[in-house]
Amino acid sequence: MKNRLLKALARDGRVRIYICDTTQLVQEAKDKHDLWPTASATLGRVLSVAAMMGANLKSTKEKLGITINGGGPIGTIMADAYADGGVRGFVAEPHVHYQYNDTNKLAVGVAVGKQGYLEVKKGMSLKDDFNGQVALQTGEIGDDFAYYFALSEQSPSVVSVGVLVETDNNIISSGGLLIQMMPDASEEDIVATESIVGELKPMSELLQEGKSLEDILHSLYDDVKILAETEPRFKCQCSEGKMRAAISTLANDDIQAMIEEDKGCDIHCQFCNNSYHFDEKALGIIIEEKNNACGK
Ligand SMILES: [Zn+2]
Repeated sequence: MKNRLLKALARDGRVRIYICDTTQLVQEAKDKHDLWPTASATLGRVLSVAAMMGANLKSTKEKLGITINGGGPIGTIMADAYADGGVRGFVAEPHVHYQYNDTNKLAVGVAVGKQGYLEVKKGMSLKDDFNGQVALQTGEIGDDFAYYFALSEQSPSVVSVGVLVETDNNIISSGGLLIQMMPDASEEDIVATESIVGELKPMSELLQEGKSLEDILHSLYDDVKILAETEPRFKCQCSEGKMRAAISTLANDDIQAMIEEDKGCDIHCQFCNNSYHFDEKALGIIIEEKNNACGK
């Protein structure tokens, strides 16, 4: 089953909907980062929102960046998304697991904490990029993004994200739903949407029951019009070339010290957990290239 994301309109275009199945994407994140169940649920929810917000980027040069820190045991959570469907992310502490005693549900709010912030950056990594920050409400992610959309983007929104995890830590299902009121939405549209969503089961449960994204969309509104389909996937932007470029910004003496004292260097990418090794010879070539570039 591949990851899927649909963009749709309803109520004569006054309501915009993003809906996604990110089960495989979150499984990949779990495999890369060795996430324990509550960490999978946390990062999975954030990655689903990232995928849906990424689908709204205007240009392939734009990047969407999310940072969350609620002071809880999971630490900082970061995720990036791009217009081509590429999404990546990590949590500072992947080995956290908490459950609510009364419901046995994964306690994402406990792992994240709520003494902190949710920050979103959008743009081409320039000075005038959009930057919005709000205080966390519950740490459960969906509520926090709904608050963010209302406050920072003045866009009343419903956010439903969920991840179900198997007892062997693999991902059973993961999905997201983002419903946004367009500027011309009426009070009636808002009330209708609230009542629809009030009765909606979590996305992860609907997907586990075998419902397709189309089934779910048509159960929400009578006049759903699907505009586009994309395939979100876990895709990191790191590469050996980028790591090499990062090393070459260091002073020659520092690179020389890595050769003589450390016999090479390892650079770790937090987003995908990959490590890049540069041995003494590779580091020597970087110094040589720098010297040649300076001589020109
Ligand atoms: Zn990476």
